[in-house]
Amino acid sequence: MEQTAVSPTEQVREVVQAVVESLREPKTEEDSPLVATNSFEAQALRTEILRVGRKLWERQYVDGNGGNISVRLGSKYVLCTPTLMSKGDLEPADICLSDLEGNILAGDRLRTSELLLHLEIYKANPKARAVLHCHPPYATAFAMTSTAPPNGLIPEYEIFIGPAAVAPYETPGTQAFAETVLPYVEDHNTILLANHGIVCWSDTVTHAEWLAEILDNYCKTYLIALQIGKPLTFMPEQKIKELLAVKRRMGLPDARLPKDAGQVAVEDTAEMARLVEQVVARLEGREQESCPSL
Ligand SMILES: [Zn+2]
Repeated sequence: MEQTAVSPTEQVREVVQAVVESLREPKTEEDSPLVATNSFEAQALRTEILRVGRKLWERQYVDGNGGNISVRLGSKYVLCTPTLMSKGDLEPADICLSDLEGNILAGDRLRTSELLLHLEIYKANPKARAVLHCHPPYATAFAMTSTAPPNGLIPEYEIFIGPAAVAPYETPGTQAFAETVLPYVEDHNTILLANHGIVCWSDTVTHAEWLAEILDNYCKTYLIALQIGKPLTFMPEQKIKELLAVKRRMGLPDARLPKDAGQVAVEDTAEMARLVEQVVARLEGREQESCPSL
């Protein structure tokens, strides 16, 4: 079994999550886009996209037809917003079903041209289940300078985002633009797109939107703090390490976390095998009592 930089219990949790995800995917009709797009899960995800699209518009994170949202549906499909529509006016029927190559399989509208960006992120990082692109004013102002805000000022920013990456400018909607984020998508869930906006990925559309809020609010507050005219007080390095420990337990990416941190020791591997066996037994109905609390 592949070893990761997390504790045995966390690895078991990941296994259980993977099992749950597989159960949610279309099964016998997995090859049918029609079944996938009409599934209860697809309907729930469309509702979430519409709700988050409305939040983006109300927060003034998207202008005109700007911004786009997508979410993975099972292992083969992606639901995404259409092109040339305000994110504040979306209806369920406007949401497109695409494969991982960007081919539209269901829906009457043309997909967003930025789906290429979303697909590159999904292909590069399996943890990305939802991607959101928008133009929040304060974060985009930083993107105009190809600069990320400094770290070490607000705990929430350190935990949920950390050092934001800055991807170089490319013409929007092109494959070259989509590939500008590739060097960053493993260690960063939030990327500033130079002279353009931002893109965030997470496990859900709702959480991806949270990242946009956290980044833009952080940029805004930082710029206000500069106007006070007093030196900024940065959190001590030891306190940052404590936040990184929290972040690691939450399974969030951060370029400051060492790649080999928490490699599972031999005795931990045995413990993990025992825990996995207990979980599998429970899933198979062989054991009712002694499964570890997850
Ligand atoms: Zn854009």
